[in-house]
Amino acid sequence: MNLIGLDRKAMESWFLQQGEKSYRARQLLKWIHGRGVVDFSAMTDLGKSLRARLMDETCLQLPQIVRAQVSRDGTTKWLMALEDGNRIETVFIPEANRGTLCVSSQVGCALNCAFCATARQGFSRNLTTAEIIGQVWQAHRQLERGRITNIVLMGMGEPLLNFDAVIPALDLMMDDLAYGLAKRRVTVSTAGLVPAIDKLARVSDASLAVSLHATTDEVRDELVPINRKYPLSQLLEACDRFIHSERQQGRKITWEYVMIDGVNDSAADARRLVRLLSRIPSKINLIPFNRFEGSGFKRSSQAAIDHFQATLQQAGYLTTVRRTRGDDIDAACGQLVGKVKAKSRPRRLEAAAG
Ligand code: SAH
Repeated sequence: MNLIGLDRKAMESWFLQQGEKSYRARQLLKWIHGRGVVDFSAMTDLGKSLRARLMDETCLQLPQIVRAQVSRDGTTKWLMALEDGNRIETVFIPEANRGTLCVSSQVGCALNCAFCATARQGFSRNLTTAEIIGQVWQAHRQLERGRITNIVLMGMGEPLLNFDAVIPALDLMMDDLAYGLAKRRVTVSTAGLVPAIDKLARVSDASLAVSLHATTDEVRDELVPINRKYPLSQLLEACDRFIHSERQQGRKITWEYVMIDGVNDSAADARRLVRLLSRIPSKINLIPFNRFEGSGFKRSSQAAIDHFQATLQQAGYLTTVRRTRGDDIDAACGQLVGKVKAKSRPRRLEAAAG
């Protein structure tokens, strides 16, 4: 039993099953995640016999950092090895007033978005909760305390296709005994899995980002193939329900929109986007396309990006242009690849979407 992946509820019921008191769970969470200690013998308040039992019957297994690369802009990318030989990437992006950790949720990705390097790797498997939260544990240990102020599930994979493992990981990120981040500072990003968006609204307080990238079904079908299953109208309705659900009161959806030259960056696109989002409390994050070998796309011109941003801002939307970070170490959006022992190559949309 690997205890790294248990959130507070799971940890409490595990201890109860063992005939122990449930407060032991809180002590253990604080050791593992709060203090970053994974050596049972150091957990002095647990009592000798309990510690011995834990050592015999459980383990605390983490992904292992095999390489750290630091960009000239301070962005750090870690390559982490999993037990089965797969490797994933995790990125820390320091900014003046915050530090964002970008975490992977799957080994590779099955969604096959046309402009994303991760898609080219194919898909191997879902990460376990331990492997997701393990990335946070490792990053915490590498950085000074307090530097991680935000966590985004924007690394490799589609988090909402790994729903059951992602939810307890989110719980740990927001649990005061573990990482204690505010719910506005923990963000799940999705390419648009409509049923899972509704489910997320019911079970989690985390914030939502949606990778939109197009304003017509015609273009989105090509860029984000999951759109053929859940077209824009359905996606926008789900987002409307989500952001007006009880847990989300007063918050906004973050829309990610990659700017690709001549594909989705026209003045008409900007105007359509304004109309599409009109009922949804929104902020928009424009992401200049990050190149990778063989992508076949080009980044929008600065003039097109400026014009697009201005149109959205004039319509009253908070709109930022994501600064490209860490591209010299291939750590920027859409550049994460790890090492995927792929079981399926792209073009398996139906199977992946379930
Ligand atoms: N599957 C989830 C989580 C990945 S988030 C999702 O799609 O939201 C990674 C973000 O980077 C997504 O918004 C993705 O669309 C964007 N992205 C992918 N490739 C990119 C590229 N080459 N340049 C810029 N952004 C890219």
